[in-house]
Amino acid sequence: MVPSVPAPAVSNRIALVEDHPRLASLVERGLGAAGIAVDTFATLEAAWHGLLRLPYALAIVDRGLPDGDGLTLIRRLRAADNQLPCLMLTAKDALHDRVAGLDAGADDYLPKPFAIEELTARVRALMRRPAEFRELHLIYHGLQILPELSCMRHQQEQISLAPAELQLIILMVRAAGQVVRRTALEAAAWGVSDAVTPNALDVALHRLRKKLAAIDAPLALINVRNLGFSLLPSDAAA
Ligand code: CA
Repeated sequence: MVPSVPAPAVSNRIALVEDHPRLASLVERGLGAAGIAVDTFATLEAAWHGLLRLPYALAIVDRGLPDGDGLTLIRRLRAADNQLPCLMLTAKDALHDRVAGLDAGADDYLPKPFAIEELTARVRALMRRPAEFRELHLIYHGLQILPELSCMRHQQEQISLAPAELQLIILMVRAAGQVVRRTALEAAAWGVSDAVTPNALDVALHRLRKKLAAIDAPLALINVRNLGFSLLPSDAAA
């Protein structure tokens, strides 16, 4: 039996709104090493459209952007009743700037310059809310996902995952058997920045199936016709 309602599982992909290329690539690399995928937007306008298009888990928002203050983006989200967790980056550490950020609806702030370790810790803390699906350790029917190591484990067997495969399996595990749509899987795996060929998802899922089999994980990645994909215990899927 396959549950028919697509789950709003949260991906491990975040939006970074930052116009400084060096800082952006530093954050991309730092969070990437923690298994978190990053899409960077250099303007408020690009960020707004990106946030409407893809189900990001979180946004990191700089204040000084070419087309305005990052606070206006957070205000716009909140005005649209969008509760996406937002971490504000600011060069200003004055009390009134922090208060302004939190008043605008930011969930946390980090003054520049910052250590990438601290940013990673803050991002993880925000992504763990709400607790039911943003847990650090992802376990599903004995399959454990280790984002920091880009691998998955079953009993004593462990296998490494390519970046897109990691994002796909995280989303499938968080969905916990519910059907996940193709568009949601593609968004989690590739975001907005990379060109995706029509069969890229099928190729990546094919590799994931082989890797699940290689570590004897008792799970089946089921194609639910016209709906999407579901990760189910092998005995339930048979
Ligand atoms: Ca800036």
